[in-house]
Amino acid sequence: MFDVLILGGTVIDGSGAPGFRADVGVNGDTIEAIGDLSRAGARRVLDATGLAVCPGFIDTHAHSDGVLLWDPQHANGLRQGITTEILGQDGLSYAPLSAENYPVYRRYLSGILGEPPEDLDMSSVAAFRSHYDGKVSINTAYCVAHGAVRLEALGFHDRPLVGEPLEKAKRLVKEGIEQGAVGLATGLSYFPHSWSGTEEIVELCRAANEAGGVYVTHLRSNHNERSFGGEGGVPEALEIGRRSGIGVHFSHYRTAPGSEGQVAERMELIDRAKAEGVDCTLELYPYPSGCTFVLSMMPSHVHDGGPDAALKRLSDPAERRKAAAYLEEHDKLQDAVITYSPLTPDLEGMSIPDVAAARNVSMGEAACDLLVENDLKVAYRGAPPNSVAVWQQVSRDCMDFLSRPDYMVGSDAIPIGRMPHPRAYGTFPRFLGRLRRQFGVMTLEQVVQRMTDNPARRFGLTRRGRVETGCFADLVVFDPERIIDNATYDDPTQPPSGIPHVLVNGRVAVDNERCTGVLAGRAVP
Ligand SMILES: [Zn+2]
Repeated sequence: MFDVLILGGTVIDGSGAPGFRADVGVNGDTIEAIGDLSRAGARRVLDATGLAVCPGFIDTHAHSDGVLLWDPQHANGLRQGITTEILGQDGLSYAPLSAENYPVYRRYLSGILGEPPEDLDMSSVAAFRSHYDGKVSINTAYCVAHGAVRLEALGFHDRPLVGEPLEKAKRLVKEGIEQGAVGLATGLSYFPHSWSGTEEIVELCRAANEAGGVYVTHLRSNHNERSFGGEGGVPEALEIGRRSGIGVHFSHYRTAPGSEGQVAERMELIDRAKAEGVDCTLELYPYPSGCTFVLSMMPSHVHDGGPDAALKRLSDPAERRKAAAYLEEHDKLQDAVITYSPLTPDLEGMSIPDVAAARNVSMGEAACDLLVENDLKVAYRGAPPNSVAVWQQVSRDCMDFLSRPDYMVGSDAIPIGRMPHPRAYGTFPRFLGRLRRQFGVMTLEQVVQRMTDNPARRFGLTRRGRVETGCFADLVVFDPERIIDNATYDDPTQPPSGIPHVLVNGRVAVDNERCTGVLAGRAVP
Protein backbone atom coordinates (compact mmCIF):
# COMPACT_ATOMS: atom_id res chain seq x y z
CA MET A 1 0.00 0.00 0.00
CA PHE A 2 1.44 3.32 -1.09
CA ASP A 3 0.39 6.82 -0.21
CA VAL A 4 0.79 7.86 -3.84
CA LEU A 5 1.30 5.61 -6.85
CA ILE A 6 2.24 7.05 -10.24
CA LEU A 7 1.29 4.48 -12.84
CA GLY A 8 2.34 3.92 -16.43
CA GLY A 9 4.80 6.77 -16.95
CA THR A 10 8.27 6.93 -18.43
CA VAL A 11 10.75 7.59 -15.65
CA ILE A 12 13.45 10.11 -16.49
CA ASP A 13 15.52 9.68 -13.40
CA GLY A 14 17.64 12.83 -13.53
CA SER A 15 20.92 11.07 -14.26
CA GLY A 16 20.74 11.81 -17.97
CA ALA A 17 20.26 8.10 -18.77
CA PRO A 18 17.48 7.11 -21.21
CA GLY A 19 13.97 7.11 -19.78
CA PHE A 20 12.36 3.78 -18.94
CA ARG A 21 8.83 2.60 -18.44
CA ALA A 22 8.06 2.15 -14.70
CA ASP A 23 5.61 2.94 -11.94
CA VAL A 24 6.70 5.00 -8.93
CA GLY A 25 5.47 4.27 -5.41
CA VAL A 26 5.66 6.91 -2.70
CA ASN A 27 5.25 6.48 1.05
CA GLY A 28 5.47 9.47 3.33
CA ASP A 29 8.04 11.84 1.88
CA THR A 30 10.09 9.14 0.15
CA ILE A 31 10.19 7.24 -3.14
CA GLU A 32 9.84 3.69 -1.93
CA ALA A 33 9.61 1.62 -5.09
CA ILE A 34 10.19 1.93 -8.84
CA GLY A 35 9.12 -0.84 -11.22
CA ASP A 36 5.96 -2.76 -12.09
CA LEU A 37 3.66 -1.76 -9.24
CA SER A 38 0.41 -2.23 -11.15
CA ARG A 39 -0.91 -4.67 -8.55
CA ALA A 40 -0.06 -2.53 -5.55
CA GLY A 41 -2.71 -0.54 -3.73
CA ALA A 42 -2.51 3.16 -3.02
CA ARG A 43 -4.44 5.90 -1.31
CA ARG A 44 -3.98 8.02 -4.42
CA VAL A 45 -3.21 6.85 -7.94
CA LEU A 46 -1.95 9.25 -10.60
CA ASP A 47 -2.24 8.00 -14.15
CA ALA A 48 0.92 8.90 -16.03
CA THR A 49 0.22 6.92 -19.20
CA GLY A 50 2.02 8.63 -22.06
CA LEU A 51 3.67 11.06 -19.66
CA ALA A 52 7.14 11.50 -18.21
CA VAL A 53 7.94 11.28 -14.49
CA CYS A 54 11.06 13.13 -13.41
CA PRO A 55 12.62 14.70 -10.31
CA GLY A 56 11.25 18.07 -9.19
CA PHE A 57 13.10 20.97 -10.78
CA ILE A 58 15.67 22.86 -8.74
CA ASP A 59 15.76 26.56 -9.55
CA THR A 60 19.27 27.72 -8.74
CA HIS A 61 18.38 31.41 -8.84
CA ALA A 62 15.05 32.82 -7.64
CA HIS A 63 14.15 36.09 -5.96
CA SER A 64 11.20 34.66 -4.02
CA ASP A 65 12.68 35.37 -0.59
CA GLY A 66 10.00 38.01 0.08
CA VAL A 67 7.08 36.73 -2.01
CA LEU A 68 7.03 33.30 -0.33
CA LEU A 69 6.42 34.97 3.02
CA TRP A 70 3.06 36.41 1.96
CA ASP A 71 2.18 34.02 -0.88
CA PRO A 72 3.36 30.61 0.35
CA GLN A 73 1.44 28.80 -2.42
CA HIS A 74 3.88 30.20 -4.97
CA ALA A 75 1.97 29.07 -8.06
CA ASN A 76 4.33 30.73 -10.53
CA GLY A 77 7.15 28.40 -9.49
CA LEU A 78 5.20 25.32 -8.54
CA ARG A 79 3.21 25.18 -11.80
CA GLN A 80 6.51 25.02 -13.72
CA GLY A 81 7.48 21.90 -11.77
CA ILE A 82 9.89 23.72 -9.50
CA THR A 83 10.09 21.96 -6.14
CA THR A 84 13.21 23.63 -4.74
CA GLU A 85 14.50 27.18 -5.07
CA ILE A 86 17.85 28.54 -3.98
CA LEU A 87 17.34 31.94 -2.37
CA GLY A 88 19.71 34.69 -1.26
CA GLN A 89 20.62 35.34 -4.89
CA ASP A 90 22.81 38.23 -5.96
CA GLY A 91 23.45 38.67 -2.23
CA LEU A 92 20.13 40.51 -2.02
CA SER A 93 18.35 38.97 0.94
CA TYR A 94 17.50 39.22 4.59
CA ALA A 95 19.86 37.07 6.59
CA PRO A 96 21.76 37.54 8.71
CA LEU A 97 20.31 40.96 9.65
CA SER A 98 19.80 42.39 13.12
CA ALA A 99 16.44 43.78 14.26
CA GLU A 100 17.72 47.27 13.31
CA ASN A 101 19.10 46.33 9.91
CA TYR A 102 16.31 44.04 8.66
CA PRO A 103 13.75 46.88 8.17
CA VAL A 104 16.44 48.97 6.47
CA TYR A 105 17.46 46.33 3.93
CA ARG A 106 13.88 45.11 3.54
CA ARG A 107 12.95 48.62 2.42
CA TYR A 108 16.01 48.96 0.19
CA LEU A 109 15.15 45.65 -1.54
CA SER A 110 11.40 46.26 -1.79
CA GLY A 111 11.71 46.96 -5.53
CA ILE A 112 12.93 43.40 -6.17
CA LEU A 113 11.70 41.30 -3.23
CA GLY A 114 8.44 43.11 -2.39
CA GLU A 115 7.34 43.67 1.18
CA PRO A 116 7.31 40.67 3.51
CA PRO A 117 6.23 41.18 7.15
CA GLU A 118 8.43 43.64 8.99
CA ASP A 119 8.41 41.91 12.36
CA LEU A 120 10.32 38.76 11.39
CA ASP A 121 13.48 37.56 13.09
CA MET A 122 16.21 37.52 10.41
CA SER A 123 19.11 37.70 12.83
CA SER A 124 20.57 34.38 11.70
CA VAL A 125 20.36 31.97 8.79
CA ALA A 126 18.66 29.52 11.16
CA ALA A 127 15.96 32.10 11.93
CA PHE A 128 15.56 32.90 8.22
CA ARG A 129 15.13 29.22 7.34
CA SER A 130 12.49 28.75 10.04
CA HIS A 131 10.15 31.15 8.21
CA TYR A 132 9.99 28.80 5.20
CA ASP A 133 10.39 25.34 6.71
CA GLY A 134 7.01 23.57 6.53
CA LYS A 135 5.31 26.89 5.74
CA VAL A 136 5.59 27.24 1.96
CA SER A 137 4.82 24.99 -1.02
CA ILE A 138 8.38 24.44 -2.22
CA ASN A 139 11.69 23.51 -0.65
CA THR A 140 14.07 26.40 -0.13
CA ALA A 141 17.83 26.47 0.11
CA TYR A 142 19.74 29.62 0.97
CA CYS A 143 22.99 31.34 0.15
CA VAL A 144 24.28 33.75 2.79
CA ALA A 145 23.65 37.19 1.27
CA HIS A 146 26.77 39.31 0.86
CA GLY A 147 24.65 42.47 1.10
CA ALA A 148 23.32 41.47 4.52
CA VAL A 149 26.74 40.46 5.79
CA ARG A 150 28.31 43.73 4.69
CA LEU A 151 25.49 45.70 6.28
CA GLU A 152 25.93 43.91 9.58
CA ALA A 153 29.69 44.33 9.57
CA LEU A 154 30.01 47.87 8.25
CA GLY A 155 26.67 49.59 7.72
CA PHE A 156 25.40 50.92 4.38
CA HIS A 157 28.60 52.70 3.45
CA ASP A 158 31.15 52.94 0.69
CA ARG A 159 34.12 51.85 2.79
CA PRO A 160 36.57 48.97 2.54
CA LEU A 161 35.75 46.01 4.74
CA VAL A 162 38.97 45.35 6.69
CA GLY A 163 40.14 44.69 10.24
CA GLU A 164 37.60 43.70 12.89
CA PRO A 165 34.53 44.30 10.66
CA LEU A 166 36.02 41.88 8.11
CA GLU A 167 36.57 39.30 10.85
CA LYS A 168 32.93 39.75 11.89
CA ALA A 169 31.77 39.33 8.29
CA LYS A 170 33.79 36.11 7.96
CA ARG A 171 32.24 34.78 11.17
CA LEU A 172 28.75 35.55 9.85
CA VAL A 173 29.42 33.73 6.58
CA LYS A 174 30.81 30.70 8.37
CA GLU A 175 27.96 30.58 10.91
CA GLY A 176 25.40 30.95 8.13
CA ILE A 177 26.75 27.94 6.28
CA GLU A 178 27.00 25.95 9.49
CA GLN A 179 23.32 26.75 10.05
CA GLY A 180 22.38 25.26 6.69
CA ALA A 181 23.17 27.78 3.95
CA VAL A 182 24.66 26.19 0.80
CA GLY A 183 27.06 29.01 0.02
CA LEU A 184 27.74 32.72 -0.18
CA ALA A 185 26.05 34.80 -2.89
CA THR A 186 26.94 38.21 -4.17
CA GLY A 187 25.84 40.61 -6.91
CA LEU A 188 28.68 42.94 -7.67
CA SER A 189 26.61 45.43 -9.62
CA TYR A 190 24.43 45.97 -6.53
CA PHE A 191 24.91 47.90 -3.30
CA PRO A 192 26.44 47.65 -0.76
CA HIS A 193 28.17 44.67 -2.42
CA SER A 194 29.94 46.59 -5.17
CA TRP A 195 31.78 48.73 -2.63
CA SER A 196 33.83 45.63 -1.86
CA GLY A 197 37.17 44.90 -3.44
CA THR A 198 38.41 41.56 -4.72
CA GLU A 199 40.46 41.04 -1.56
CA GLU A 200 37.34 41.24 0.66
CA ILE A 201 35.55 38.64 -1.39
CA VAL A 202 38.56 36.32 -1.40
CA GLU A 203 38.57 36.50 2.41
CA LEU A 204 34.83 35.84 2.68
CA CYS A 205 35.12 32.97 0.21
CA ARG A 206 37.90 31.39 2.24
CA ALA A 207 35.53 31.38 5.21
CA ALA A 208 32.70 30.02 3.04
CA ASN A 209 34.93 27.33 1.59
CA GLU A 210 36.10 26.17 5.00
CA ALA A 211 32.47 25.75 6.00
CA GLY A 212 31.74 23.77 2.82
CA GLY A 213 29.87 26.38 0.75
CA VAL A 214 29.88 27.46 -2.89
CA TYR A 215 30.50 31.03 -4.14
CA VAL A 216 27.55 32.20 -6.25
CA THR A 217 28.29 35.34 -8.23
CA HIS A 218 26.42 37.87 -10.28
CA LEU A 219 29.47 39.41 -11.90
CA ARG A 220 30.71 42.93 -11.50
CA SER A 221 29.60 45.08 -14.40
CA ASN A 222 30.81 48.31 -15.91
CA HIS A 223 27.75 49.92 -14.36
CA ASN A 224 29.67 50.81 -11.23
CA GLU A 225 32.66 53.02 -11.45
CA ARG A 226 35.16 50.54 -10.09
CA SER A 227 36.11 47.69 -12.30
CA PHE A 228 38.34 44.81 -11.33
CA GLY A 229 39.99 43.03 -14.20
CA GLY A 230 37.43 44.03 -16.87
CA GLU A 231 35.97 41.39 -19.20
CA GLY A 232 32.59 41.68 -17.51
CA GLY A 233 33.93 40.56 -14.14
CA VAL A 234 34.91 37.03 -15.26
CA PRO A 235 38.65 37.34 -14.44
CA GLU A 236 37.79 38.60 -10.96
CA ALA A 237 35.44 35.67 -10.27
CA LEU A 238 38.06 33.20 -11.49
CA GLU A 239 40.77 34.85 -9.38
CA ILE A 240 38.51 34.56 -6.33
CA GLY A 241 38.04 30.86 -7.07
CA ARG A 242 41.74 30.33 -7.63
CA ARG A 243 42.87 32.12 -4.48
CA SER A 244 40.22 30.90 -2.05
CA GLY A 245 39.89 27.38 -3.45
CA ILE A 246 36.09 27.68 -3.45
CA GLY A 247 33.73 26.37 -6.14
CA VAL A 248 32.46 29.27 -8.27
CA HIS A 249 28.91 29.31 -9.62
CA PHE A 250 28.16 31.95 -12.27
CA SER A 251 24.67 33.44 -12.10
CA HIS A 252 22.68 33.97 -15.33
CA TYR A 253 25.68 33.64 -17.64
CA ARG A 254 24.57 33.81 -21.26
CA THR A 255 24.69 35.84 -24.46
CA ALA A 256 22.44 38.84 -25.11
CA PRO A 257 21.50 40.94 -28.12
CA GLY A 258 24.85 42.31 -29.26
CA SER A 259 26.79 39.20 -28.22
CA GLU A 260 24.43 36.65 -29.79
CA GLY A 261 26.21 33.65 -31.27
CA GLN A 262 29.32 34.15 -29.13
CA VAL A 263 28.99 31.08 -26.92
CA ALA A 264 32.58 29.90 -27.38
CA GLU A 265 33.94 33.41 -26.77
CA ARG A 266 31.90 33.75 -23.57
CA MET A 267 33.30 30.46 -22.27
CA GLU A 268 36.94 30.87 -23.22
CA LEU A 269 38.35 32.28 -19.96
CA ILE A 270 36.19 30.00 -17.86
CA ASP A 271 37.27 26.90 -19.75
CA ARG A 272 40.90 27.90 -19.44
CA ALA A 273 40.52 28.33 -15.66
CA LYS A 274 38.69 25.01 -15.40
CA ALA A 275 41.59 23.32 -17.16
CA GLU A 276 43.84 24.77 -14.45
CA GLY A 277 41.62 23.30 -11.76
CA VAL A 278 39.20 26.10 -10.85
CA ASP A 279 35.87 24.47 -10.02
CA CYS A 280 33.21 26.32 -12.07
CA THR A 281 29.51 25.81 -12.73
CA LEU A 282 27.01 28.11 -14.37
CA GLU A 283 23.32 28.75 -14.82
CA LEU A 284 21.02 30.68 -17.17
CA TYR A 285 17.45 31.51 -18.09
CA PRO A 286 16.11 31.32 -21.65
CA TYR A 287 15.17 34.93 -22.43
CA PRO A 288 17.00 37.72 -24.26
CA SER A 289 16.55 40.48 -21.66
CA GLY A 290 16.90 40.94 -17.92
CA CYS A 291 14.96 42.42 -15.02
CA THR A 292 15.92 44.14 -11.78
CA PHE A 293 15.03 47.03 -9.48
CA VAL A 294 15.34 50.63 -10.66
CA LEU A 295 17.12 51.84 -7.53
CA SER A 296 20.08 49.61 -8.39
CA MET A 297 20.69 51.63 -11.57
CA MET A 298 21.49 54.77 -9.58
CA PRO A 299 25.10 55.96 -9.25
CA SER A 300 27.13 54.73 -6.29
CA HIS A 301 26.94 57.82 -4.09
CA VAL A 302 23.12 57.81 -4.11
CA HIS A 303 23.11 54.55 -2.12
CA ASP A 304 25.52 55.61 0.61
CA GLY A 305 23.66 55.63 3.94
CA GLY A 306 20.85 53.34 2.80
CA PRO A 307 17.26 53.82 1.60
CA ASP A 308 16.37 56.96 3.60
CA ALA A 309 19.49 58.73 2.37
CA ALA A 310 18.83 57.58 -1.21
CA LEU A 311 15.25 58.83 -1.16
CA LYS A 312 16.34 62.16 0.26
CA ARG A 313 18.89 62.59 -2.51
CA LEU A 314 16.42 61.68 -5.25
CA SER A 315 13.97 64.23 -3.84
CA ASP A 316 16.55 67.04 -3.94
CA PRO A 317 16.35 68.94 -7.28
CA ALA A 318 20.11 69.28 -7.81
CA GLU A 319 20.84 65.67 -6.85
CA ARG A 320 17.94 64.48 -8.98
CA ARG A 321 19.38 66.29 -12.01
CA LYS A 322 22.78 64.70 -11.42
CA ALA A 323 21.33 61.20 -11.01
CA ALA A 324 19.14 61.65 -14.10
CA ALA A 325 22.12 62.75 -16.19
CA TYR A 326 24.11 59.72 -15.00
CA LEU A 327 21.31 57.34 -15.93
CA GLU A 328 20.97 58.75 -19.41
CA GLU A 329 24.69 58.65 -19.96
CA HIS A 330 25.22 55.09 -18.69
CA ASP A 331 22.16 52.98 -18.96
CA LYS A 332 19.53 51.36 -21.03
CA LEU A 333 16.48 53.28 -19.97
CA GLN A 334 15.58 53.28 -23.64
CA ASP A 335 14.55 49.61 -23.30
CA ALA A 336 13.23 49.69 -19.73
CA VAL A 337 9.66 48.57 -19.14
CA ILE A 338 8.18 48.98 -15.66
CA THR A 339 7.20 45.62 -14.14
CA TYR A 340 6.38 46.72 -10.59
CA SER A 341 5.40 50.14 -9.24
CA PRO A 342 2.74 49.43 -6.60
CA LEU A 343 1.93 53.06 -5.77
CA THR A 344 1.51 53.98 -9.45
CA PRO A 345 0.07 50.65 -10.63
CA ASP A 346 -1.30 52.09 -13.88
CA LEU A 347 2.31 52.50 -15.04
CA GLU A 348 3.13 48.78 -14.79
CA GLY A 349 3.71 47.57 -18.33
CA MET A 350 4.65 51.04 -19.63
CA SER A 351 8.16 51.87 -20.76
CA ILE A 352 10.21 54.55 -19.04
CA PRO A 353 10.51 56.47 -22.35
CA ASP A 354 6.68 56.44 -22.55
CA VAL A 355 6.36 57.75 -19.01
CA ALA A 356 8.97 60.43 -19.74
CA ALA A 357 7.16 61.53 -22.91
CA ALA A 358 3.76 61.60 -21.18
CA ARG A 359 5.18 63.75 -18.38
CA ASN A 360 7.40 65.87 -20.58
CA VAL A 361 10.55 65.09 -18.58
CA SER A 362 13.76 63.27 -19.50
CA MET A 363 13.99 59.49 -19.09
CA GLY A 364 16.42 59.88 -16.20
CA GLU A 365 14.08 62.30 -14.46
CA ALA A 366 11.17 59.92 -15.01
CA ALA A 367 13.14 57.11 -13.35
CA CYS A 368 13.96 59.33 -10.35
CA ASP A 369 10.34 60.46 -10.03
CA LEU A 370 9.05 56.89 -10.18
CA LEU A 371 11.32 55.92 -7.31
CA VAL A 372 10.20 58.85 -5.19
CA GLU A 373 6.50 58.30 -5.95
CA ASN A 374 6.76 54.59 -5.13
CA ASP A 375 8.93 54.92 -2.02
CA LEU A 376 11.73 53.16 -3.96
CA LYS A 377 9.56 50.15 -4.91
CA VAL A 378 10.09 49.97 -8.69
CA ALA A 379 11.29 47.11 -10.87
CA TYR A 380 11.83 47.04 -14.62
CA ARG A 381 12.72 44.60 -17.35
CA GLY A 382 14.53 45.03 -20.63
CA ALA A 383 12.51 44.85 -23.83
CA PRO A 384 13.26 41.90 -26.11
CA PRO A 385 15.17 42.71 -29.32
CA ASN A 386 13.28 43.95 -32.37
CA SER A 387 15.08 41.49 -34.60
CA VAL A 388 13.53 38.01 -34.66
CA ALA A 389 16.82 36.62 -35.95
CA VAL A 390 18.73 38.02 -32.98
CA TRP A 391 16.16 36.64 -30.53
CA GLN A 392 16.31 33.24 -32.23
CA GLN A 393 20.09 33.20 -32.00
CA VAL A 394 20.03 34.09 -28.29
CA SER A 395 17.54 31.24 -27.73
CA ARG A 396 19.75 28.85 -29.67
CA ASP A 397 22.76 30.02 -27.62
CA CYS A 398 20.82 29.18 -24.46
CA MET A 399 20.51 25.55 -25.59
CA ASP A 400 24.19 25.45 -26.56
CA PHE A 401 25.17 26.67 -23.10
CA LEU A 402 22.79 24.26 -21.40
CA SER A 403 24.19 21.34 -23.36
CA ARG A 404 27.46 21.77 -21.44
CA PRO A 405 27.61 19.41 -18.44
CA ASP A 406 28.51 22.29 -16.09
CA TYR A 407 25.29 24.22 -16.70
CA MET A 408 22.00 24.33 -14.80
CA VAL A 409 18.85 26.46 -14.87
CA GLY A 410 18.21 29.56 -12.77
CA SER A 411 15.04 31.46 -13.58
CA ASP A 412 16.07 34.72 -11.88
CA ALA A 413 12.32 35.02 -11.18
CA ILE A 414 11.05 38.29 -9.72
CA PRO A 415 7.37 37.39 -9.31
CA ILE A 416 5.98 40.75 -8.18
CA GLY A 417 3.80 43.33 -9.94
CA ARG A 418 1.22 42.82 -12.66
CA MET A 419 3.71 42.81 -15.53
CA PRO A 420 6.72 40.81 -14.36
CA HIS A 421 9.42 39.41 -16.61
CA PRO A 422 7.96 36.21 -18.13
CA ARG A 423 10.89 34.16 -16.79
CA ALA A 424 9.07 34.01 -13.44
CA TYR A 425 6.32 31.90 -15.05
CA GLY A 426 7.97 30.21 -18.01
CA THR A 427 11.65 29.38 -17.58
CA PHE A 428 11.56 25.60 -17.03
CA PRO A 429 8.83 24.65 -19.56
CA ARG A 430 10.41 27.04 -22.07
CA PHE A 431 13.67 25.09 -21.96
CA LEU A 432 12.08 21.67 -21.61
CA GLY A 433 9.36 22.15 -24.20
CA ARG A 434 9.69 25.02 -26.63
CA LEU A 435 13.46 25.35 -27.04
CA ARG A 436 14.26 21.63 -26.79
CA ARG A 437 11.79 20.83 -29.56
CA GLN A 438 12.73 23.83 -31.68
CA PHE A 439 16.50 23.40 -31.73
CA GLY A 440 17.01 19.67 -31.07
CA VAL A 441 20.35 20.36 -29.39
CA MET A 442 19.68 18.18 -26.33
CA THR A 443 17.71 15.09 -25.44
CA LEU A 444 14.84 15.31 -22.98
CA GLU A 445 16.95 13.37 -20.48
CA GLN A 446 19.84 15.81 -20.77
CA VAL A 447 17.61 18.83 -20.22
CA VAL A 448 16.07 17.18 -17.15
CA GLN A 449 19.55 16.36 -15.79
CA ARG A 450 20.55 20.04 -15.92
CA MET A 451 17.40 20.95 -13.96
CA THR A 452 17.67 18.27 -11.26
CA ASP A 453 20.74 16.15 -10.65
CA ASN A 454 23.24 18.88 -11.61
CA PRO A 455 22.06 21.50 -9.10
CA ALA A 456 21.40 18.89 -6.39
CA ARG A 457 25.01 17.77 -6.57
CA ARG A 458 26.47 21.25 -6.89
CA PHE A 459 24.63 22.60 -3.86
CA GLY A 460 24.72 19.44 -1.77
CA LEU A 461 20.96 18.84 -1.69
CA THR A 462 21.02 15.31 -0.40
CA ARG A 463 18.46 12.77 -1.63
CA ARG A 464 17.12 15.25 -4.17
CA GLY A 465 17.47 15.63 -7.93
CA ARG A 466 16.90 11.94 -8.75
CA VAL A 467 14.04 9.49 -9.11
CA GLU A 468 15.55 6.67 -7.07
CA THR A 469 14.31 4.63 -4.16
CA GLY A 470 15.24 6.37 -0.93
CA CYS A 471 15.16 9.85 -2.48
CA PHE A 472 12.65 12.45 -1.38
CA ALA A 473 9.52 12.31 -3.49
CA ASP A 474 9.90 15.64 -5.27
CA LEU A 475 8.38 14.66 -8.61
CA VAL A 476 7.03 16.21 -11.80
CA VAL A 477 4.62 14.44 -14.15
CA PHE A 478 4.64 16.14 -17.56
CA ASP A 479 3.80 15.57 -21.19
CA PRO A 480 7.03 15.78 -23.25
CA GLU A 481 5.09 16.61 -26.43
CA ARG A 482 2.80 19.24 -24.94
CA ILE A 483 4.86 20.92 -22.25
CA ILE A 484 5.32 24.60 -23.12
CA ASP A 485 5.59 28.03 -21.55
CA ASN A 486 2.66 30.39 -22.16
CA ALA A 487 4.06 33.46 -20.41
CA THR A 488 5.10 36.17 -22.86
CA TYR A 489 6.47 39.68 -22.50
CA ASP A 490 2.95 40.98 -23.22
CA ASP A 491 1.10 38.48 -21.04
CA PRO A 492 3.70 37.39 -18.51
CA THR A 493 1.67 35.68 -15.80
CA GLN A 494 0.22 32.85 -17.90
CA PRO A 495 0.98 29.45 -16.37
CA PRO A 496 2.55 26.78 -18.59
CA SER A 497 0.76 23.79 -20.16
CA GLY A 498 1.58 20.11 -20.02
CA ILE A 499 2.54 19.72 -16.35
CA PRO A 500 -0.45 18.02 -14.70
CA HIS A 501 1.13 16.90 -11.41
CA VAL A 502 3.84 18.07 -9.05
CA LEU A 503 4.75 16.37 -5.77
CA VAL A 504 6.80 18.02 -3.03
CA ASN A 505 8.10 15.73 -0.28
CA GLY A 506 5.51 13.12 -1.25
CA ARG A 507 2.53 15.49 -1.12
CA VAL A 508 0.55 16.33 -4.25
CA ALA A 509 1.13 20.07 -4.62
CA VAL A 510 -0.21 20.41 -8.18
CA ASP A 511 -3.11 18.16 -9.15
CA ASN A 512 -4.39 18.26 -12.73
CA GLU A 513 -2.75 21.64 -13.27
CA ARG A 514 -4.22 23.09 -10.07
CA CYS A 515 -2.34 24.09 -6.93
CA THR A 516 -3.72 22.10 -4.00
CA GLY A 517 -2.78 24.46 -1.19
CA VAL A 518 -0.44 21.90 0.35
CA LEU A 519 2.57 23.58 1.98
CA ALA A 520 5.05 20.71 2.21
CA GLY A 521 8.25 22.57 1.38
CA ARG A 522 11.20 22.30 3.71
CA ALA A 523 14.27 24.36 4.36
CA VAL A 524 16.95 22.17 2.80
CA PRO A 525 19.46 20.56 2.64
ZN1 LIG B 1 19.11 37.73 -9.84
